[in-house]
Amino acid sequence: MKYYSTNRQAPEASLEEAVVKGLASDRGLYMPEHIQALPKEFFDNIDRMSFHEIACRVAEAFFGEDIPKDDLDRIVCDTLAFDCPVVEVEPTIYSLELFHGPTLAFKDVGARFMARLLQYFIRRSGDNREVNVLVATSGDTGSAVANGFLGVEGIHVYVLYPKGKVSPIQECQFTTLGRNITAVEVDGVFDDCQRLVKSAFMDSDLCEHLVLTSANSINVARFLPQAFYYFNAYARMKALGKADELVISVPSGNFGNITAGLFAHRMGLPVKRFIAANNANDIFYNYLLTGVYSPKASVQTIANAMDVGDPSNFARILDLYGGSHERISSLISATTYTDAQIRETMLECFAHTGYILDPHGACGYRALKEGLREGETGVFLETAHPAKFKDTVDGAISTDVAIPSRLADFMKGEKKSVPMTADFADFKAYLLSR
Ligand SMILES: *Cc1c(COP(=O)(O)O)cnc(C)c1O
Repeated sequence: MKYYSTNRQAPEASLEEAVVKGLASDRGLYMPEHIQALPKEFFDNIDRMSFHEIACRVAEAFFGEDIPKDDLDRIVCDTLAFDCPVVEVEPTIYSLELFHGPTLAFKDVGARFMARLLQYFIRRSGDNREVNVLVATSGDTGSAVANGFLGVEGIHVYVLYPKGKVSPIQECQFTTLGRNITAVEVDGVFDDCQRLVKSAFMDSDLCEHLVLTSANSINVARFLPQAFYYFNAYARMKALGKADELVISVPSGNFGNITAGLFAHRMGLPVKRFIAANNANDIFYNYLLTGVYSPKASVQTIANAMDVGDPSNFARILDLYGGSHERISSLISATTYTDAQIRETMLECFAHTGYILDPHGACGYRALKEGLREGETGVFLETAHPAKFKDTVDGAISTDVAIPSRLADFMKGEKKSVPMTADFADFKAYLLSR
């Protein structure tokens, strides 16, 4: 399968090139040349298939031309070492829980898949040089990528994070791992971390001496596998007899997660419509209202993994629907919520159902609560475990959210990180000395 750039100014890439490069040379996002529809027989039987069986079929449609079936099945099953169950919150609203992975957020799925795919390519190429993954993080991405790549042979990960600006619970998820993961504590802000990473990719000395790659969320290997759990959600709802008028609500920031759902829809998944649930960052909401996309600076909210002012994957959505505002707005609607509304939603849901939402999932839940029509059933994506945002959640619902043991275990580990200035010369010297 070939991958083209949404900007159409870069040469087409193979899957391997698209994964290693991440972003096309014209700064566009890679898109698969074809999106294969799955046959009726698959949808007829899907409610009797396991999550692994479903995911293997979907993976084959995306990657089957490039990777032999046995290898691909193994990558998929290794990735999905945890379930993504659908849980009833109230009779018409279900939660697709995506927090059962190692770092308790949906990004585990894409990060684990990408790590295994990259390892497969390295082995196949016979190049014995170590591949270095550089990733800048303000918190969640670093933990998902570090844990996704933990122990994967032939790959070393450097996580750059801003000193003192990442919550202790997030920091311990990538500073205590050791092995092939190095945490680099930068004396600066997140933008400095990102600048150091970008400068490294553009530096010819470094590129000559080291094999460098990024694990950015726009990478096709991180983004496409997220389609797996949309199919699983449909299957589980179908088994309950509740999939006829299904509405899926996705807490959205950079819009990668919802775009994977739109790919699933294009492959034939019978979802009636989608809702992009936003916090106060209302760029997509305004686009749907006006037909004009006006990116702006992000605003800080309590659902901070969605604080994005210029969502990268908007380019993929436009591409998918030929730039048609009409087609986009007939399938997708959007909502935008203030922090006060998010808190109120966490409290109301807990009081009425006992279900504890995290601030991101709360946006998704509220969008269904307000927007479901007669006869529809809604599934929202619960993108993180509430304990990851314990202070906010405890404050909103006046309780003491239990911390799952796999999160508590990170906090017991010994923190190790390499101190770094925000000066690129220092970072370069460090990488060259490795
Ligand atoms: C990253 C993230 C999101 C936003 O997902 P996008 O794919 O960027 O839209 C939502 N919730 C949580 C908990 C996240 O970590």
